[in-house]
This record gives sequence, C-alpha cells and structure tokens, in this order.
Amino acid sequence: MKRKRVRQKKQHPGERIKNFDEVVIGYTEKDAVEEARRCLQCRDAGCRKGCPVEIDIPGFIKFIKEREFGLALETIKKNNYLPAVCGRVCPQEVQCEGRCILKKKQEPISIGGLERFVADYMLKRMPGQNPPIVPQVSRTGKKAAVIGSGPAGLTVAASLSELGHSVTVFEALHEPGGVLVYGIPEFRLPKKIIKKEVEYIKSLGVDIKVDVVIGKTLFIKDLFDMGFDAVFIATGAGLPKFLGIPGENLNQIYSGNEFLFRINFMKAYMFPEYDTPVNVGERVFVIGGGNVAVDCARCARRMGARVTVLYRRGRDEMPARSEEIRHAVEEGIEFRYLVSPVGFVDDGNGNVEAVKCIKMQLNDPDRTGRRRPVPVEGSEFVIEADTVIIAIGQSPNLLVSVATPDLEVSGDGVIKVDGDGRTSMKGVFAAGDITTGTATVIKAMGAGKIAARAMHEYIERKGNGRKEIAGRNRT
Ligand code: FAD
Ligand code: SF4
Repeated sequence: MKRKRVRQKKQHPGERIKNFDEVVIGYTEKDAVEEARRCLQCRDAGCRKGCPVEIDIPGFIKFIKEREFGLALETIKKNNYLPAVCGRVCPQEVQCEGRCILKKKQEPISIGGLERFVADYMLKRMPGQNPPIVPQVSRTGKKAAVIGSGPAGLTVAASLSELGHSVTVFEALHEPGGVLVYGIPEFRLPKKIIKKEVEYIKSLGVDIKVDVVIGKTLFIKDLFDMGFDAVFIATGAGLPKFLGIPGENLNQIYSGNEFLFRINFMKAYMFPEYDTPVNVGERVFVIGGGNVAVDCARCARRMGARVTVLYRRGRDEMPARSEEIRHAVEEGIEFRYLVSPVGFVDDGNGNVEAVKCIKMQLNDPDRTGRRRPVPVEGSEFVIEADTVIIAIGQSPNLLVSVATPDLEVSGDGVIKVDGDGRTSMKGVFAAGDITTGTATVIKAMGAGKIAARAMHEYIERKGNGRKEIAGRNRT
C-alpha cells in the first residue's frame, strides 16, 4: 500500500518573509516515526550508495522506527560529524533520496528530514552530550594542524582527534564554521546548530584557534617548526567571480559573498540589535542560479524588497537545491530564465539605476553536460533596479597558495591533490572547495574523511621511522 510522505512543519510564507527564523520547523517525534515506517529497509539500499559519506541510512531509519533515537544518531555519526547541518542543507534530491527505491512509484523517504530530526532531538535532550558517549582514545603524542574550519576542516580535525592525534584548527575569522556561519542564512541553518556541532567536535579534544590567517599571521613552514607532524588545508572557495561587464563597479552592486557576509556574519539580520548597513531599496535583481543566488534573493526579500532572480539557463539547469527554489517561489521571488546581464546603468551619482539584459537560448550540451546558453541577437532590454547582487560563483581563496610557492595549484587557484588529498608538499594535505572549486558540504566532508585516513597513515609511518609515502615530494 502506498503511503504518502509525512511533511515537515514549516513557517507560512507570508509570515516567514518578515523574519529570519528557520523556515522548516522539522518533524515531531510522532511524524518522524511515521515517516520512518515507510522505509522498506532494502538489503542493497540505493540510498546508501547515493550518500557521498555512505551513512547506513536504512540502519538509522530502523532505529527511528524503534524510537531508539540515540542509537540512530550514533549510526549516523559513524560516517558524518555534522548531521544537523547535512539534514538541512544536503542536496538529498540528487543524492540519497534520488536513489531511494520508493521514488519509482511515489515520493522517496525524507532521509534529510529524518537525519535532521535525530540530530535535533538529541541536541535538545542531551545538550553537550551528543552523542551520549564521546569515545575515549589513547593519545599518540602526534600533532596535526588544520587550516580552515569549514566542513572539510572540521571533519579532518574530528577524525584525526578520534584516532588519538592532537589537532589544532587555525581559522581566519572570529567564529568557526566556514560557509556554514558566514554564507548560509539563519533561516536555512541557524547559527546555534553550527555552534552545537562545533562544540561536539571540540569535546573530541580539538583545539580551535580563531583570528589566525595562515599566509599572513603564520605560514605553513611555521606550523612544521611548531612541531606539527602534518598539515591539512581546507580554506574553501570564497573569492567572488564577477561578470566583467560595463558598470559593474557602481554603488549598490554587491557580490553575493559580500551581501551574505554582511547579513549573516556581520548580523544585519539582527537589526536593530546590530546596525550593519545593508540598504537594498525596493527593487532587487540577483544574477545567478546556484545556492548563493537563491540565498541572496531570500535575504533581500526578508529586507522588504521585490526580488527577481535572473538566470541565463532554464529551471532544469539551476544548480541550487530544489527545495530552496520552491521555498523562494512560495516567498514571492520571481525567476526569469534565459536572461543574462550585459551592462549596468549609472544614475548620474555613481549608483546603479538599471540592468541592461539580453535574452538567451540553449544550444547543445557543453562538456559539463549542461546545455550552453547563447545570446539571442537583437533581444536586449533594460530593467530598473535599486540593488543588484552578482552570485555567479566563487573561486578558491589564494592566500595560502600564494604564500607557499612549493604548493602546486592549477590556473584557477585550485590546490592540486591526488585521490587521497596529498598535495605536492610532503606532509601537506588538502580537500574541500579549495581542491575542487565550489561544491557541497557533504562532498567537502567526504573528501576530508579520505584525506584524514591518508594523514593518519602518514603520521603513523613518520612516527615509526618508516619510509614516508605521503606527499608527492619532488625535492
Ligand atoms: P569553507 O566552508 O569555505 O571553509 C573554509 C574556511 O577556511 C573558512 O572558515 C575560512 O574563513 C577559512 N580560511 C580561508 N583562508 C584561510 C587562511 N588563510 N587561514 C585560516 N583560515 C582560512 N552546499 C551544500 O551542500 N548545500 C547548500 O545548501 C549550500 N549552500 C551554500 C550557500 C552559500 C551562500 C555558499 C557560499 C555555499 C553553499 N554551499 C552549499 C557550498 C558549501 O557550503 C561548500 O561547498 C562547503 O562549505 C565547502 O567546505 P570547505 O570546508 O571546503 O570550505
Ligand atoms: Fe529505505 Fe528508500 Fe533506503 Fe530503501 S532506498 S532503505 S526505502 S530509504
């Protein structure tokens, strides 16, 4: 018998555009158990194969069915240190839920919703004890340094600490979490959730030092001089890309990064308690089709603007999470597809007044498999704007690689690594967005787990005085 997916409770769109509180309220205990009952407990579960960190999905869902929420969380935490985050932001529709057997005939199991339920349930009931027992390990006396405290850095730090090494994370900003704190808005991922997940990682013995910029305050060489046996780089991709079209430097044109940084990290969303200046005016256009573009649009909407997203491809090609696109539409955000900006108009005082656009059409797929947009000749038009936000992607942060000439990087600043996260320097590893360009939280974590294994092996071999295998050292 078909059973409909149990929906998570949400704030009503008319209400939520007036606040920055979380949109999805989540499952009640009763609803979670009911949704878990839909799971068929497949033996060769497709969902698990679709998860980049291979969580035992049927296993944790079975524990929910049995109301053993602590055991459900322990099952998830074997493969994922940030379940409350991943339950909220993973693109489940193309990962685990996309491979759920039920999808053939009905809606797949809400795996993300259930993962979030378990993590939140335990966080609420056992603050500071999540999961209930922090594994006790004997210390190896070895030290590892981690640069960057986003999902990749936190995963490596937690993994190495669980293996008994002393781990210090160096973070440039004054709060750990990376994009999770400075990029993804409060209404999708509340800061208190990240704080609790970070607290758990600290409880494993990880030391996090904030306000340290590697490549300025300290250099990789200094870290080895300080006695660290291995270094992991996870500095992410936070450098905004621009369009390179006339008028792009006018006032009231933001990069998506700056806009979200002001709203989230500098807490403009907590106005009037914080008075970070972000004045959007009445008419906002956001350029782009990814998560950053949709997050910017929804923030601007909450600041009272009428918002339109301009995307040069079609709905099917949009890389943003589909649930968030749905939420944005519910919130009254307009999406105009097959449109690209070609310039910006000055109001005479150095502010943007309008966007010059051109219509696009889709040609054959390019190398990435997505259909290539090309301009339609003679289709230019102009639209009035108070604010424009450019969210067309980010490239890797360059500070560490510029300050470390021995580190091999590709033309766009991506640090080159082998399949296990080894860089060109002995004892130096890397993973996450700095090695791939902007990707996803779970991919950064998955690559971090692989790199942590290789680092552990390297540190152990080094300690045993055996031939070192890590580092494609060329000297
Ligand atoms: P980051 O999270 O970027 O962390 C890097 C850290 O390194 C930062 O804290 C930075 O301050 C620090 N750092 C940088 N340079 C230095 C230095 N020199 N010294 C010390 N520290 C340094 N993914 C999803 O899966 N789902 C989503 O819904 C989603 N939404 C997103 C929304 C936005 C607005 C953005 C920007 C990204 C989104 N992503 C999403 C992508 C995802 O957040 C990233 O892929 C992921 O955070 C990458 O993790 P990371 O650890 O490699 O880097
Ligand atoms: Fe349950 Fe779907 Fe996974 Fe099967 S594929 S175990 S039904 S979540």
